[in-house]
Amino acid sequence: MALIEAIEPSADGHRRLRVLSPATGQAVGEVDVANASDVASAVERAHKAQPDWARTTFRERRAIFERAARHLAENAETFVEVIVSETGKPNEEALSVEVLAACDALQFYAKHAGSILADRNVPVHLMKTKKLKVCYQPLGVVGIITPWNFPFLLSLNPSVQALMAGNAVVLKPSEITPFSGQLVERLLREAGIPEGVFGLVIGDGETGRALVEAGLDKVAFTGSVETGRRVGEACARQLIPCTLELGGKDPMIVCADADIDRAASGAVYGAFANAGQVCVSTERVYVVEEVADEFTRKVVEQTAALRQGPEGETDVGPLIHGPQLDVIERHVADATTRGARILAGGRRNPEFTGLFFEPTVLADVTQDMEIMREETFGPVLPILRVRDEAEAIRLANDSPYGLNANVWTRDKHKGAKLAKSIEAGSAIVNDCMLTYGVAEAPFGGRKASGIGQVNGEIGLRSYCHAQSILIDRFGAKNEFLWFPYTRRKGRLMRRALRWIWGTPLGRWLS
Ligand code: NAD
Repeated sequence: MALIEAIEPSADGHRRLRVLSPATGQAVGEVDVANASDVASAVERAHKAQPDWARTTFRERRAIFERAARHLAENAETFVEVIVSETGKPNEEALSVEVLAACDALQFYAKHAGSILADRNVPVHLMKTKKLKVCYQPLGVVGIITPWNFPFLLSLNPSVQALMAGNAVVLKPSEITPFSGQLVERLLREAGIPEGVFGLVIGDGETGRALVEAGLDKVAFTGSVETGRRVGEACARQLIPCTLELGGKDPMIVCADADIDRAASGAVYGAFANAGQVCVSTERVYVVEEVADEFTRKVVEQTAALRQGPEGETDVGPLIHGPQLDVIERHVADATTRGARILAGGRRNPEFTGLFFEPTVLADVTQDMEIMREETFGPVLPILRVRDEAEAIRLANDSPYGLNANVWTRDKHKGAKLAKSIEAGSAIVNDCMLTYGVAEAPFGGRKASGIGQVNGEIGLRSYCHAQSILIDRFGAKNEFLWFPYTRRKGRLMRRALRWIWGTPLGRWLS
C-alpha cells in the first residue's frame, strides 16, 4: 500500500496525486504537483515580498503569530481532523504533539524573537577604541522541506521561526501529507501574513529538488539521511546554508537504580508514540542486567495493554507511509532469524485493513542486528541486556546516528553525567523524546543525524546572518595600525606582544 497514488494529470498538464488514509485506505483528497515553474514563481514572489516584511517591527510580526495561536487554539478540532485524516494518528496524539505544540511554538517565538534577535552591544576585549554591535539580519527567502510524521508541527515551527526573523518562506510539505501543509498556509494567511511572504508548493521529491535549486538563501530540511545528503550537496554547490534534521536510532539506558515502573512506562511511550514514527523515538534499549527481567516484564505487560485501531479511543496509530512496513518487517525478520525472541506483537495487525503494525518487543537482540543499527521508524522496541552502565554507553555510541538519547536513574547527577557521555545532539534524564517540544532547547543531530540546530535562541538566530558592525569611538586622524609602517611602530608592537601575552597581568587584562 503506497498511501498516495498517481492519478490522471490535470488539464493544464500538472501531475496529480491521490492521498489515502493509512488507517482505512479511504481516499482523503487529491492534489496537483507543483512543477519547476510553479516553484520558481513562488520563490520569486517571496523575494519580492521579503524586503517589506523585513522592515516590519517585531511587534507587528508578533501580532500576526499571536493571532494565529489564538485561532489555532479556538479551532483545534478542525486542524486535528485534517491531520488525522491523512496520518491516521489517534486524535489525542494529533492534539498534543501537533496542535498544542504548534500553539506553543507560535506564542514562544512571537513573544521572544524580538529580544533574541535585538541588536546587541558586545564589549570588545582588546581594541577599546571600537564599539561592536551584532545585528541579526534576515537571510532572505528560506525554503522549508518537511516529512510526513508530524506534518503540521514540523512545517509550522520552522516557518514561524524563519518568518519572525524577517525572512520570507516557501514551504514544501511531504507529498504523503499535503493537507497538513495547506493548514499551515491557511492559518498564516488568515492571521494576516502579507501576500507573498509565505508560499506553499505541494509535491514530491521533484518539487523539493526544484525548490532547493530555485535561488533560495537557506534551506531548512527535515527528513531522511539519504535525501538530506542530496539537499546538503545541492546547498554546498550553491554556497547557501542549510540545516539538516535527519533520522535517528535513539538509545535508552536503564541503570540498576532506575525507577523501573517509570522507566518501563517511558520505554513504551518512547517506542510506540506516533507508532514509533518519531525521529527521536526510543529505538533500542540497553538495560543493566540486575533489573533487566523486571524492566522487560513490565514493558511487555504495558505493551500488551496498548489499543490499536482506525477509530475510537486508541493508543497506537497506523504506519503513515506504506513503504515503511517493508523496513520494519525486514528488521524484525533479520532479528528473529538471528536469535531474537518476540515478546509482544511482531507482525502486521491482522484485525485491520489499514497499515497497523502491532507494538512489538524483542529480547535477546545483539548489537550487530539491523534492528539495533538502522533506523526502524516503526513500533518496535528491542531490549539488550548489558553488564553495566559503561557497556551501555559504549553500545549507545556504537552507531552512525546521534540524534537524541535517554537515561534512567534515581541519581540525577549521574544521569546528567551519563547523558553527556552519549554522542547525541540532545539527551534526557528520566523522560523521553521531549526535547523538540521544549522551545528553549537547541535541537539537532550529530553524526549522520544532521547538521545544524533548530529551535531556541540558536535555532532562531540560524535564520539570520549575525552581522558585526564595528564603530570607531574616538575619531582620531590616524590609527596606529595604518600607514606609514615605521621601525618605531615595530618596536612598540614587539614590546606590546611581550607584555600582553608574555606577562600574567597582560594576559589577565587581555
Ligand atoms: P524523506 O527524506 O523521504 O522526505 C522528506 C522531504 O523531502 C519530503 O517533503 C520529500 O518530498 C522531500 N524530498 C524528497 N526528495 C527530495 C530531493 N531530492 N530534494 C529535496 N526534497 C526532497 O523523509 P520522510 O520519509 O518524509 O521522513 C522520515 C524521515 O525523517 C525519518 O528518517 C525521520 O527520522 C526523519 N525526521 C527527522 C526529524 C528531525 O528533526 N531530525 C524529524 C522528523 C523526521
